[in-house]
Amino acid sequence: MPDKPYVVDQMISAKSIAARIEALARDIEAEYAGTEKLVVVGLLRGSFVFIADLVRELHLPVEVDFLEASSYGDGMETSREVRILKDLRSPIEGRDVLLVEDIVDTGFTLSHVIHLIESRKPRKLRTIALLDKPARREVQLSADWIGFEIPDEFVVGYGIDFAQRNRNLPFIGKVRFTDA
Ligand code: 5GP
Ligand code: MG
Ligand code: MG
Repeated sequence: MPDKPYVVDQMISAKSIAARIEALARDIEAEYAGTEKLVVVGLLRGSFVFIADLVRELHLPVEVDFLEASSYGDGMETSREVRILKDLRSPIEGRDVLLVEDIVDTGFTLSHVIHLIESRKPRKLRTIALLDKPARREVQLSADWIGFEIPDEFVVGYGIDFAQRNRNLPFIGKVRFTDA
């Protein structure tokens, strides 16, 4: 499938993403005012660009940690089975945690990871997703903050891949296959 030719059509520009992150950062700062040190947890690998931009907009003391969960393999469909490939380095009991996800699609990944983190008794857990595809939801949940709601399209860029490609695009685009 990665061999099928495709192009990427821009859906959300780098400028729009930056503006949205600034607004989200102000909301998050308000929510966490007075927090000693927020633990910002990025879900690898898709959130790596988003978390990098988001933490640089946050005027708060933050610690950054990562968790890698996999549900997709190299395909375009969720396997509905979430595996933890890399766990957090820091204990989070009693801490304020912000979980950063790239996309909430069926909701399986976010719900699995929320349960895992909650089982470790953080003081407060909040979630943020850059993109939300509500049309495909199977587990009823949503992130506390969402960058953009998008239609049911397969997207890449800004950290998000198609079979490990296109993560380095500075914008979000949708995949369009070109073979006739
Ligand atoms: P869920 O468990 O909510 O179905 O899926 C969440 C994960 O599936 C996302 O974190 C992301 O890694 C992947 N995913 C969902 N939609 C897309 C998409 O349009 N493009 C890419 N590349 N990955 C997606
Ligand atoms: Mg993800
Ligand atoms: Mg992926």
